[in-house]
Amino acid sequence: MTRRNGTGQVRKIAHWSDNKTFTGTGANTVPVTNPATGTVTGQVSLASVEDAHTVIDAAVAAFPAWRDTSLAQRTAIIFKFRELLNERKSELAEIITSEHGKVVSDALGEVSRGQEVVEFACGIAHLLKGGMTENASTSVDVHSIRQPVGVVGIISPFNFPAMVPMWFFPIAIATGNTVVLKPSEKDPSAAIWIAELWAEAGLPAGVFNVLQGDKTAVDELLTHRAVKAISFVGSTPIAEYVYATGTAHGKRVQALGGAKNHAVVLPDADLDLAADAMVNAGFGSAGERCMAISALVAVGDIADELVSKIADRTNTLKIGDGTRDSDMGPLVTKVHRDKVASYVDAGEAAGATIVVDGRDVDADGEANGFWLGPTLIDNVSTDMSVYTDEIFGPVLSVVRVDSYEEALDLINSGPFGNGTAIFTNDGGAARRFQNEVEVGMVGINVPIPVPTAYYSFGGWKSSLFGDTHAHGTEGVHFFTRGKVVTSRWLDPSHGGINLGFPQNN
Ligand code: NAD
Repeated sequence: MTRRNGTGQVRKIAHWSDNKTFTGTGANTVPVTNPATGTVTGQVSLASVEDAHTVIDAAVAAFPAWRDTSLAQRTAIIFKFRELLNERKSELAEIITSEHGKVVSDALGEVSRGQEVVEFACGIAHLLKGGMTENASTSVDVHSIRQPVGVVGIISPFNFPAMVPMWFFPIAIATGNTVVLKPSEKDPSAAIWIAELWAEAGLPAGVFNVLQGDKTAVDELLTHRAVKAISFVGSTPIAEYVYATGTAHGKRVQALGGAKNHAVVLPDADLDLAADAMVNAGFGSAGERCMAISALVAVGDIADELVSKIADRTNTLKIGDGTRDSDMGPLVTKVHRDKVASYVDAGEAAGATIVVDGRDVDADGEANGFWLGPTLIDNVSTDMSVYTDEIFGPVLSVVRVDSYEEALDLINSGPFGNGTAIFTNDGGAARRFQNEVEVGMVGINVPIPVPTAYYSFGGWKSSLFGDTHAHGTEGVHFFTRGKVVTSRWLDPSHGGINLGFPQNN
């Protein structure tokens, strides 16, 4: 079913350039769907090469004035944006739910975590201070400054249409760059709402732009001479492509990829708290989180009791339309729902035990929604596709091991290194784990250890390509370039010819 507006036309979701809607010339569109109803609610434009150039040109034109706008004025606009966002975040949460499917409370949580980065960016002046050395050489002073890189491209995934862009653009804008955001074509409306809010906050035209599209739009960002840095978040194969192509075109690139996050539960852990955490981290947002726990590694003889506790809790979850009183919503598309379900089929065929089966869930929502209930699979072995692949759905696999060493080896031998967690009451074991595990973000009795905004977010191995993580001081570093100035003010005693290499004296 396709929903039409009052004039009988399907809502068109276009680009945003120069503080106004830009329809573009590209004739291609793709449908945007409400995952809870299966209804097509709009058509999003896919940028042509020409559209991409128009939007990038707007960012190029806005850069010189924005980089020269005083820190005080830039900060005032970011502060205003924060105030508007805080007042109206429920509107944004509703948009997210209508296109992504996550429940409204979870969408609000996403916006709040993004807002943290906006708040961090309000204090950017402190982080842009350089160093100064007086009299490094006789009458010579040296100081360092950090300057914006220029036009920045942000390419984001479907699962956090507000928070992931907010990992980057508040800091990019605060440090004096101009931005082109290319959101996921599955849930493109949040970006436009954010763009309108920036305009209302007083951001000059061209500083924040939205380019809707697919590979064509991405490729223009990756290859256009004027784009100086790329922040990408998405699946690992695309992250690798983005990193290789962007760097080959001389850009600074941070490309955050996929994940397969393990939680280790040691025999001394509080099993009730661990079971709560597994349900929250396995099934929140229908498992469509890069920090979701998808593999539970149960160490020793606790597995039966732990699995039973998780199953009891899972069976209480209410699955349904995110605008109703549900714990978990639908998956983002029908194709994705079917792909996730096929992993459950494959696990079952390979001999795993389906403890809770979400395949024919009775959801509180329309029949055409993309429903898949939370699924708990026990006795998963490491050769099964349900273990080896990133599934990105509400599927929690249980792998049973005998020792801490075996658990650690499982994690460290895998291709991903985004997040992990350990559940234990033994401080020594936890400390050893944080030291030995090859993963970028570690939780100790905390299941989804997303760092707060003033730390940096990022994984290791195939979960991140590039040297710099998102937000925090690494984010400030990514969006700025260092410059060191050595100065001496005119004094007749400084004259004279000397072709030797300058030495400090
Ligand atoms: P995706 O890789 O399909 O898409 C990400 C972005 O790349 C989108 O904007 C999309 O339009 C674009 N894209 C898709 N195909 C492309 C192509 N062939 N060439 C160029 N660009 C292309 O990812 P998704 O399905 O939207 O998001 C889910 C993935 O993102 C999961 O793998 C998840 O783990 C990952 N993710 C990672 C993090 C992290 O912090 N590491 C955070 C969120 C999501």
